[in-house]
Amino acid sequence: MRQHTIRKPVGIEGIGLHSGKVARITLCPAPVDSGVVFRASATGERIPARADSVVNSHYATTVGVNGTRIQTVEHLMAAVSGFGVDNLEIEVDGPEIPALDGSAKPFVALLSLAGRVQQSARLRPLTIPCLLRVGDNGRWMRIVPSDTFRISYTLDNEHPAIGTQVLSWTPTERSFVEDFAPARTYGFLKDLGLMRKNGLARGGSLDNAIVLGNRGALTGLRYRDEFVRHKILDLLGDLALLGRPLQGHVIARNGGHALNLELVLAIQRAVGLERRAVLEAAAALENGVRHESFVPAPGLAAI
Ligand SMILES: [Zn+2]
Repeated sequence: MRQHTIRKPVGIEGIGLHSGKVARITLCPAPVDSGVVFRASATGERIPARADSVVNSHYATTVGVNGTRIQTVEHLMAAVSGFGVDNLEIEVDGPEIPALDGSAKPFVALLSLAGRVQQSARLRPLTIPCLLRVGDNGRWMRIVPSDTFRISYTLDNEHPAIGTQVLSWTPTERSFVEDFAPARTYGFLKDLGLMRKNGLARGGSLDNAIVLGNRGALTGLRYRDEFVRHKILDLLGDLALLGRPLQGHVIARNGGHALNLELVLAIQRAVGLERRAVLEAAAALENGVRHESFVPAPGLAAI
């Protein structure tokens, strides 16, 4: 599998879900191995779409560097990942990625308009060396080694419109575009006042979110289980902060952006430790020291 970027620059503008401010984004082609990088028009600061750029994961994923911040990157990141684009520069004129309809569908349409182009360098998937877990009680995530990427998600909520929703998915581009990209973000009417007081959901409306009243959704749903589909979309967007495709089975229960980020960091730690062990073993062999206790985990060659 090779890396991909887009064929030509494309742009779109809209209101940010949390800031309520208008922003314009322009997606541009980028060279091999550069990954996804945000560039803030106001300061010229370049912010790599990586876990170590995350400065806030409360209700949305915000990246930043040297005081420049870009809020709510997850739906755009999900679209980039789901559409199979690895290298991309995203110029952002404003404080937040536009909410558009609250899903990743408009970003997928934008990427389709730009067209995808294959590059010379190979993709290097991340393989998981062992079972990893984050969270506890009713909110947790695990990832287990697997030859393919898979997400199994359980969402429990006492709200009658949500209840218990369970979905297991092996991502493909087609099912991403049809079954997950259109799933919209959601919020509870009873929380709106407090959220707005805290600078959140200021751009939120029935045009860019499913709003849940006491009895049900105030607008129609795109899928019967749109809520768990959106949770999976958010997780996909946050996992894209790994910067490489993932091989492993993620099993999640009632996560959120903070837990998604914990999982990303746990994966990075595990893969880094594993790689260090391989390098140390190789160095020891070179020095004539035998390390018979070292057994490489399956898939290490791909790291
Ligand atoms: Zn979301």
